[in-house]
Amino acid sequence: MIRYALHCKACDEAFEAWFASSAAYDTQKERRLVRCTACNSTRVDKQIMAPAVKTAKGKDTAPPDPEKMFAAFAEKARAHVAQNFDYVGDSFAEEARSMFYGEQDERPIWGETTAEERDALKEEGVPAAPLPEPFTPPIPKPKGRLN
Ligand SMILES: [Zn+2]
Repeated sequence: MIRYALHCKACDEAFEAWFASSAAYDTQKERRLVRCTACNSTRVDKQIMAPAVKTAKGKDTAPPDPEKMFAAFAEKARAHVAQNFDYVGDSFAEEARSMFYGEQDERPIWGETTAEERDALKEEGVPAAPLPEPFTPPIPKPKGRLN
């Protein structure tokens, strides 16, 4: 079944009708069986529609763009990491290990590791996961730390 939004050119009535298929609509239209619900005219055509989806509230909205949705999600993830995770730079492996062994309180951190450090953490069972590139916030500038 297919539902068409129809428009009557005689009286400007807009209405909807169900058809078995688009071919069935064409056949019925040809046989002048598609008639306006208001004035019974056969000068009825399919309405040209812009793409839209019905939301739960019944409002028409533009269809979601998956790329934009992902970008918005990635942006949120980046902001979350930037605000809630402490950037520890090259000390990530050291910090993560020290928390794992209870030498300091656990806190959310992010930073860089070498491949060797990453493998060592994995072997020791220290929980750490690579942060996918779209979720990686810009690296914060050191806050007046003396090196
Ligand atoms: Zn009409």
